[in-house]
Order: sequence, then C-alpha cells, then structure tokens
Amino acid sequence: MRLKQNPKLIGSNLHDCRTQVGACPLHCNQCYYNREGAFYCDINKTHIPSPRTVGHGIARMNAGHDSNYRRGEVIRQAKKYKHAFYNTSIPQFDFPGPVVFTANPKEEDVPTIIMAKELPSDEELKKIMFIRLRVSASNLDLVGDQISCWVRLDIPVVLTFMAYYEDNALQKVLEKVPEAQVYYEWKVRHVNSYYCPTKNFKKMVMKRMNRIGGRLVSMCGTFESNQCVDCKNCETFYWQTMKHLNGE
Ligand code: SF4
Repeated sequence: MRLKQNPKLIGSNLHDCRTQVGACPLHCNQCYYNREGAFYCDINKTHIPSPRTVGHGIARMNAGHDSNYRRGEVIRQAKKYKHAFYNTSIPQFDFPGPVVFTANPKEEDVPTIIMAKELPSDEELKKIMFIRLRVSASNLDLVGDQISCWVRLDIPVVLTFMAYYEDNALQKVLEKVPEAQVYYEWKVRHVNSYYCPTKNFKKMVMKRMNRIGGRLVSMCGTFESNQCVDCKNCETFYWQTMKHLNGE
C-alpha cells in the first residue's frame, strides 16, 4: 500500500521517512507532530516508503521526531535509499550523509551550541546541508546573532517562520513585541489552521537577515508558497552538500 504523502512535499523530489513511533521527546514549541490529530499521518505507525517509491528521489529522514533519537534504526533505514538526508536539533553530526541542523529548537532562548562555543569540526561542517533557524517576531536579535556565526563558517542558513496554533504561544510573543500583532494572521497552512506570519513580516525579516548573511540566508518556502516544490532549498542544498562530501 502506498503511504500517504506529506501535503507539503507534493510535486517535489522529497519523500518523508520516519522510523520512530509515538510522541517526539523533544517537544519543540508549536510542532504539529506531537499535537494530537494534526500530523498528516498516524504517528503511532512508522512511515517508511519503499526504496522503489523513493527511486531517484531524496528521502527526508524525520519530518517528525529527530534523526538523533533512536539513530541506529534511522541510519539503517536511510541506507536503503539512493539519496537521503537527516534532520536533528541535537548537535551530533556523525551521520553517513547530509544533515539539516535546527540550531535553535527553543527559539526564544540563546542556543547552547553557540554559548558553549562548541562548534562542529571541519568534517562535521561538511555534512551540514544548512542551519535551520526558527524565527518569531520576538527572537530577531538572536536569529541575527546566529546567522553571523554560521555564515562566518560558510554554512547556509534557512529561516523557518513560526506559526502558532495556541493563543497562549502567540501571546508570549506579543507580550515582548506588542506591535507584532499585525505580523500574524489566522489561516490554513497545509492541513491545519495557525496564526501564520504575514507576507510583509517575512519580507521585512528577510531584508534584515540578508543584510547580515547575504545570499547564504534564505527561507523555508517562498513569500507566496510554503510548498517544497516552489522552494527547492532542501534538494538544492542536498546536491551541493553531496558534491562537497565527494570532494568536488
Ligand atoms: S526549505 Fe524549502 S524544500 Fe526544504 S522543507 Fe522548507 S519548503 Fe521544503
């Protein structure tokens, strides 16, 4: 039986693969994976497409969960595919292929990897496809600091704009930045409704962050679309990283 495809990935060259079941222990703020009934497939079952289904496409390990959680099985399954990359917010990068690192899973706090100056080794840096940073209206200074750090190491940064399904979560942002009310609008994103960032907010942030990190900074999606087929960052950076790993 063909597995249900993530609506965000439709038309792209990416295929979700998740070997873990049940709730993710990391509980990132507003992640739709742990929110009951919100994820696009049953989280109590694995989601492992056949190598034939993925074919020459790219397996995206862990759209839900984290590739460093029960990593042995994640790596074992990933090796079945011609192309695969990993996703983690835990600073351990010794995967046998490219990895996306979410450097600020607690987006309102200063990331520990920077505080401790525990930056990855050169070998590890080669494997990082890009740094993913979670962006809110109240963490822009922290995001700017992170960008400065990573672009100095020549690592691309992709910004993911936070969307909020809980009033309380948005309220915490607005307590710090009351004028940010106009930066969010309630609407459907993929399958669920959220307070989503407006196009104006995203444009304003990208302008500010591109001034810091230049063309190494881009965003997840485009100003018009959240679909991977319209963005292609993951595919593009996957192939670039493979070239570096192959010494090209
Ligand atoms: S960065 Fe682009 S390709 Fe990657 S998950 Fe986001 S929208 Fe999809």
